[in-house]
Amino acid sequence: MTNIDSFEEFSRGRCSYSCAMCSFTSSESLALFKHVKERHGMDTAVFAKLYPGYAVAKVKITCAECGAAVTFDPTKLSLHTFNKHKLTLKAYYNKHVTNGTSNNAS
Ligand SMILES: [Zn+2]
Ligand SMILES: [Zn+2]
Repeated sequence: MTNIDSFEEFSRGRCSYSCAMCSFTSSESLALFKHVKERHGMDTAVFAKLYPGYAVAKVKITCAECGAAVTFDPTKLSLHTFNKHKLTLKAYYNKHVTNGTSNNAS
């Protein structure tokens, strides 16, 4: 297991998404969807339906604010922290991730 020791590292998330039409991969679903749209001119909803296996690795983390299981993907995580807790991803990181050395509470 790798430790998360910087915001940069944390903000990359732990998921992996790949484009079925070329060799593009990203740790962020938003980046993949943007790629699909711009590079292949395909609607993201169509893409998700055609290639449901685009999320090759999906990791969830427990939100320290509410205990919800959130996909460890910067797009989804920041949406969650911001919509539910009015925290940006950076604010969440500063508040919960750097506070203790380990974030292993279950
Ligand atoms: Zn592609
Ligand atoms: Zn939450």
